Amino acid sequence: MNSTTEKRIALISVHGDPAIEIGKEEAGGQNVYVRNVGEALAKLGWQVDMFTRKVSLEQDSIVQHTQNCRTIRLKAGQVEFVPRDDIFEYLPEFVDNFLKFQVENGITYQLVHTNYWLSSWVGMELKKIQESKQVHTYHSLGAVKYNTIENIPLIASVRLAVEKDVLERAERIVATSPQEQQHMRSLVSTEGNIDIIPCGTDIQRFGSIAREAARHDLGIDKEAKVVLYVGRFDPRKGIETLVRAVNESQLRGSKNLQLIIGGGSTPGNSDGIERDRIEQIVNELGMSDFTTFAGRLSQDILPTYYAAADVCVVPSHYEPFGLVAIEAMASGTPVVASDVGGLQFTVVHEETGLLAPPQDVNAFASAIDRILLNPEWRDELGKAGRKRVESKFSWHGVAIQLSELYTQLLQPAEEPAQEAALLVTK
Ligand code: UDP
Repeated sequence: MNSTTEKRIALISVHGDPAIEIGKEEAGGQNVYVRNVGEALAKLGWQVDMFTRKVSLEQDSIVQHTQNCRTIRLKAGQVEFVPRDDIFEYLPEFVDNFLKFQVENGITYQLVHTNYWLSSWVGMELKKIQESKQVHTYHSLGAVKYNTIENIPLIASVRLAVEKDVLERAERIVATSPQEQQHMRSLVSTEGNIDIIPCGTDIQRFGSIAREAARHDLGIDKEAKVVLYVGRFDPRKGIETLVRAVNESQLRGSKNLQLIIGGGSTPGNSDGIERDRIEQIVNELGMSDFTTFAGRLSQDILPTYYAAADVCVVPSHYEPFGLVAIEAMASGTPVVASDVGGLQFTVVHEETGLLAPPQDVNAFASAIDRILLNPEWRDELGKAGRKRVESKFSWHGVAIQLSELYTQLLQPAEEPAQEAALLVTK
């Protein structure tokens, strides 16, 4: 590594702004991942620039998070929110403005880590223009996602082609779970280099408060049986399954149930429509007395919600990783999750929680009941979850693995002359 390229990285996340509030329209795990990876890498001595698309004129173009870590917002198309399925046509402008930023700041990024397929296209374009190396994290695979939804968007064929291209051409792909790696191999391509490095969580923040204190802070009764959902309002998240399962549990005789659904929504946008739909189901089932829509929960208050819950439910139809599961586990709360994707990796069935077939209301109801009916077992599962997250999923640990990967990729290829000299001395 020469001194100008040493430990400098561009994290590119076109639609997932690492500097914004999480939990609203299209802002979820990817935003959290990029921000936390960026800050943790900066602590390890990397100079981290995180590039995203500017969506409002009120947003600063540069947000400095820590001394070595900042978010840089580039213009691409109108400066307004655009759903991710409609962003592709603006990417050439994003690339142009990235190149302009490099020239204006005297930087050439030798290494870019792209996030989601849109950014992967940007990374591949950069590679055509300059000698950047590319690491890519998918966050979601079209080939899997399109099997789980009814309305396939127009952009699907472009996305699938780009996802295949980047798997075969990036210097390294980061799969966040063995399940994601298998999906890449079986559904996308057998070519390309994949490493498994999971997502992480803040193990100091989550787990910092005990159940009783958390319930006191939130005004929740000690005897209540609290079932928690945290996440975006998106049909793929399966919130309907959870609502119907809790209703089933009540019909089977569970007492003192309290369902908390955490996550923001924007009226008129797709997440607002899903929230209205879920609220309507809650009303139809007569559950509104014991169901709370808590709205967007900040990262500061989230640990209190996780700690207050008896069980956290992640009922997704598809989940590439699922940060919410490890946040709950870090907080000592068992997880009932769909038996899909990264949740099969993070949640150990019967050890840190329970897995149930996606969309299976009865199976979810039974799993939730088993935990609610046995507080001692609940605590055992919670402790085992905490231990698992401490050993495998801290941001610090994740950043060390990424840092090693980047360092390896930035090593200059051995000069032919040196190789020859080595041969002579042998
Ligand atoms: N989140 C949040 N506030 C909310 C809802 C969600 O901060 O009101 C965060 C949550 O803590 C997690 C992320 O959004 O870190 C969701 O990530 P996950 O991988 O579970 O799902 P995704 O959004 O990527 O589908």
